[in-house]
Amino acid sequence: MDRLELQKLRDLPIEGVAERLGLRVSRHKSLCPFHDDHHASMSFKVSKNTFRCFVCGASGGPIDLVMRHLNFDFKAACRWLADEHNIILADESSKFQDSGFKSEVKPFDASRYERFFERPWLNEEARRFLFYERRLDPRVVRWCRLTSWKDKQGVPWLQIPYYNREGKLVGIQNRNLVRGALPRFRFPQGSQCGIYNLPVLNLLRPGEQLFITEGCSDCWAMLSAGHKAIAIPSATLLTKKDVELLETWNQKHETTFHMYPDRDEPGERLFLQLQKVLPSLVHHQLPLGCKDFGEYYLKISHNFP
Ligand SMILES: [Zn+2]
Repeated sequence: MDRLELQKLRDLPIEGVAERLGLRVSRHKSLCPFHDDHHASMSFKVSKNTFRCFVCGASGGPIDLVMRHLNFDFKAACRWLADEHNIILADESSKFQDSGFKSEVKPFDASRYERFFERPWLNEEARRFLFYERRLDPRVVRWCRLTSWKDKQGVPWLQIPYYNREGKLVGIQNRNLVRGALPRFRFPQGSQCGIYNLPVLNLLRPGEQLFITEGCSDCWAMLSAGHKAIAIPSATLLTKKDVELLETWNQKHETTFHMYPDRDEPGERLFLQLQKVLPSLVHHQLPLGCKDFGEYYLKISHNFP
């Protein structure tokens, strides 16, 4: 891992990291997970991106928080943070570095992977995940060209291709299909997994609605519910190019943008951040008991056979 990557992890918003770990952050405070706390003794300093418990003295940055909370060593904590935030660590290139080669992040080699998505194949684990657990519409799974494979250890992965507007393969996200297993995600070198499902823009009619979701699984749910949708990885990770694409699209087309933010503080924060880019973004409220659109979709699709 190089210094730039490490800095990316250290810059991940501390409160967002705490929430991903399952802490409930409210007004820059939460219960401290490192002692038997009943009074929200842990506080977060957004300006310094640190946490500190006034009772037990635990303190540090995002990586420290993950290390302590999950009982991980430094490397495992970095890996976890990267996976959780779709950050690509150049661990392949660091292998070469160790053996004396100069490290260089190679660009994504689409020609190596394109053929996998020409004839998608779903193994049993993938079918169970997509059709049984998520109840996705098979037409959506075909449109997204989802495919699957097993690695040498026999671990099943779902392979999710990212295309640009012109339909060119620009990146791949591999999702571990073993529940709870780490790493959850893996990206081939140089993958650019920014906005997901960009080819859908070519199908939009003037004035039509476009939903913005967080992450591809909510996007599949939204598509299965009959809406046109794209997904963003997360607001902090939107690149300048992605922001420009959204802004230009908004200025040139009569698309109306819609969003069902996750029913929590990060969800609302993401909505507000996106609203700065897309001022007309329409807020939809998820019903109580549904924390994201994926869950809501499961509820509404429950009535279908
Ligand atoms: Zn404490």
